Amino acid sequence: MHVLILGGTSEARALAERLHGTEDGTDGGTVRVTSSLAGRVAAPRLPAGEVRIGGFGGVDGLVEWVRAHAVDAVIDATHPFAERISFNAARAAATAHVPLLALRRPGWVPGAGDDWHPVGSLAEAARALDELGDRVFLTTGRMGLAAFADCPQWFLVRSVDAPEPPMPARTEVLLDRGPFTLDGERELLRSHRIDVLVTKDSGAAATAPKLQAAREAGIPVIVVRRPPVPEGVETAASVEEAAVWVRGLGPRP
Ligand code: NAP
Repeated sequence: MHVLILGGTSEARALAERLHGTEDGTDGGTVRVTSSLAGRVAAPRLPAGEVRIGGFGGVDGLVEWVRAHAVDAVIDATHPFAERISFNAARAAATAHVPLLALRRPGWVPGAGDDWHPVGSLAEAARALDELGDRVFLTTGRMGLAAFADCPQWFLVRSVDAPEPPMPARTEVLLDRGPFTLDGERELLRSHRIDVLVTKDSGAAATAPKLQAAREAGIPVIVVRRPPVPEGVETAASVEEAAVWVRGLGPRP
């Protein structure tokens, strides 16, 4: 069975590792995994199995790829905010008649002592800053910085690769990649005298310590809500659930 994993997340890597080479439920057959990465990160962590890098060329390109490589099932394990590829996957899977599963880790939930300000977009997050402070820790990734370009606040921007303009005039860039530690996040908030944290609701364990550090320091957090999973697409909340789904597919025609 050939499973295409649309990746770019730690869950996608864990799923590739979990599925690659396992029995596929047929007589002696094994699961062949191809992970697809968008190519945004200069030196990505590579998953187990085969890897392809770069866009497919929209829905039609994805349909073509699925057919040309005899893909039996697609798992959309992209970041919860990668809206376009998830939409394309839904359309392409329906057109190519292959089963599709969206692997979405659960979102974060505020706890006692949290001062969260949920917003619907990066633009809304930028507007919300006016009320919340002048020194901003921005962890929403380098791709959406344009939404903050006109903000007068000072920004500490953390990203894996260096961001490009447009970005806020007063910006310090910190190149780093999770997982992050609670002690490290505490120190970062303290040493940069951060007033407000901005994050997407990614739900990732690797980046969650900043939330606890903000809670402890009484720092408000602007949380960008997730876009919905495309209508009608089955979802799994964990790598194990996704592996069970693959096992349940049975022999493919
Ligand atoms: P996006 O807006 O949903 O997708 C834009 C285009 O990038 C897609 O139409 C597709 O090009 C290509 N693409 C995206 N993911 C791909 C994949 N896994 N394999 C092949 N092509 C892919 O995506 P994005 O928000 O820019 O995110 C890009 C990648 O970074 C995703 O794989 C995601 O998992 C990862 N990521 C995103 C975020 C975030 O906050 N958005 C955070 C961490 C990691 P074609 O139409 O040409 O196929």
